[in-house]
Amino acid sequence: MSKPRLAAVRGMNDLLPSEAPLWEWFEARVLDWLRSYGYQQIRTPILEHTEVFVRGIGEVTDIVEKEMYSFEDRLNGEQLTLRPEFTAGVIRAVLEHNLTYDGPRRLWSIGPVFRHERPQRGRYRQFHQVNVEALGFAGPDIDAEHIVMLARLWKIVGLTRIRLELNCLGQAEERARYRTDLIAYFERHLQRLDADARRRLYTNPLRILDSKNAELADVVAGAPRITDYLSAESRGFFERLQSLLTAAGVAFTVNPRLVRGLDYYNLTVYEWITDALGSQGTVCGGGRYDPLAERMGGRSTPGCGFAIGMERVIELLRACGQGQTAPALDVYVVHQGGATAQAAFLLAERLRDAGLDVAYHAGEASLKSQMKKADASGAEFAVIIGERELAAGEAAIKALRAQNAQAPFARQSTVPQEKLAEALIDALTDGSPED
Ligand code: ATP
Ligand code: MG
Repeated sequence: MSKPRLAAVRGMNDLLPSEAPLWEWFEARVLDWLRSYGYQQIRTPILEHTEVFVRGIGEVTDIVEKEMYSFEDRLNGEQLTLRPEFTAGVIRAVLEHNLTYDGPRRLWSIGPVFRHERPQRGRYRQFHQVNVEALGFAGPDIDAEHIVMLARLWKIVGLTRIRLELNCLGQAEERARYRTDLIAYFERHLQRLDADARRRLYTNPLRILDSKNAELADVVAGAPRITDYLSAESRGFFERLQSLLTAAGVAFTVNPRLVRGLDYYNLTVYEWITDALGSQGTVCGGGRYDPLAERMGGRSTPGCGFAIGMERVIELLRACGQGQTAPALDVYVVHQGGATAQAAFLLAERLRDAGLDVAYHAGEASLKSQMKKADASGAEFAVIIGERELAAGEAAIKALRAQNAQAPFARQSTVPQEKLAEALIDALTDGSPED
């Protein structure tokens, strides 16, 4: 009796070989880009004590209230959580290892994060982020650096349909005054609030500004604006950031309703948004969180950073016409079984020693069917070791993509095995099929 088929957990995707080249292409550019700004990698565990996220994200947030995958370790009773974002774990590690002891740090991470949300286009339960943190820098120049570097990344990968919204949330005292007025305002419009907004009214009223309910749009539009509550110092910080961005040629709009749900965010917040992906249009969010290190039990350390949602960026890349085909193999090695199979197997290793990308035909099949596999593999050349070639110490080469009869090896010909790598490298470098 056959067993029922197994399926992936809902909202958690397999990345299939056909989709992998675009991810690999994007990730390779991301690594170069991070290096070019002097950022260093930090890898933290996917699993942390739940307390890391409760303290690091805040109790009255969507993430901690309802989106975390938390469980008790059966063996020792510890409360654990799959990371729903990177920042809290990175700060935990930085404090634990005293990484800012000698001065500020520029750090990055990449990998999966987990949130129990309703799966839909652009919203999954396992998704991936590129995460950047700068710790120990207090001035707006580092906020500007993050935004300028993101603008550069979009340019490097050819993303066009994306814009920047920016806001300043001031400091806790400024927000406290704002919060009081905001609550009073929403209380006056209580009948018009939906259940979600009423639930947040006294816990996290700023988050109401972020409501996706179109019926709240008027009420939200009439609400007091944080920008009117900023101190001279916060305004100065925000102006300095804006003037750096303008000088660097990065376009933005100030959106006074832009908030990010977390209490400890201060000063800068921003989002990169696209209209090309339907309702899940935020591809990257970032900002400053100076109070966080202290909240997590460390020495006060200013910090700011951002997270890029990789699934959304990849989808946007496709929408912008960035398709990536798998990088082609150089060579596919075929044989006639028996002694030729072993010779071909070892020859493939020698070609790899010479730096070529080589697939060896595993198993036995007719030459005709192996040549079909060679063609389908995308390789530039087939190398054939038959009985005759083996006996003569030679290998046959056949170009698989030659556009004209003059291209090297457009017609199958043999070379001595010790000359094979050299002949292939010559053919690959100056035999470009375009000319
Ligand atoms: P949203 O308002 O869309 O829920 P968020 O404020 O919860 O976003 P952040 O915590 O700032 O998102 O995460 C950074 C980025 O990660 C987002 O800008 C988005 O691109 C991506 N992201 C967030 N949640 C998901 C998800 N469930 N699936 C895929 N990508 C996501
Ligand atoms: Mg969310």
